Amino acid sequence: MRTATLPGGHRPPAARYSNEAQDDRMRPAIVDAAAERVTMSAVGKFETTPETRRRMSRQRSRDTGTEISLRKALHAQGHRFRVHRRPVKGLRREADIVFGPARVAVFVDGCFWHGCPEHATWPKNNAAFWRAKIEANQRRDADTDRQLTEAGWLSIRVWEHEDTETAATRISEHVRKRRSTCRA
Ligand SMILES: [Zn+2]
Repeated sequence: MRTATLPGGHRPPAARYSNEAQDDRMRPAIVDAAAERVTMSAVGKFETTPETRRRMSRQRSRDTGTEISLRKALHAQGHRFRVHRRPVKGLRREADIVFGPARVAVFVDGCFWHGCPEHATWPKNNAAFWRAKIEANQRRDADTDRQLTEAGWLSIRVWEHEDTETAATRISEHVRKRRSTCRA
């Protein structure tokens, strides 16, 4: 004799854990897991559209602490420069600090977004998504450097974690050297 439903509308306990249970309230864990998968794949899909990818890869955080103190240090060393400019006409890549006459472009790279070898943290959740994103940024950085070089520029990359005085001195040496040769 089947007892699919007990008097009063309650299902027998066995049915609550069977795959045939149709009442979603009976299996909240399964429902939550499915919802999470849907959210993840929706995010993954959303984040990898060409438009979003372009926007995210351009998402250089402006005016970070490193960038500001680097600008101060360079200014104190007597340099004048432009900030957040596209150094090469027609090339849609924006540098953080640009020395026009010397043709030096400086990029301050965030440790997470650009995969710093010392501080890169590769998130475990949605690992493939983040790895793809960070590696795409790295490929773009390499491509930017290549294109700048081809256009006669020097690209200098500074990690977010670097000591700004040291970085400023490194940049300064290149700028002075190139300014004299570029004008000659
Ligand atoms: Zn770092």
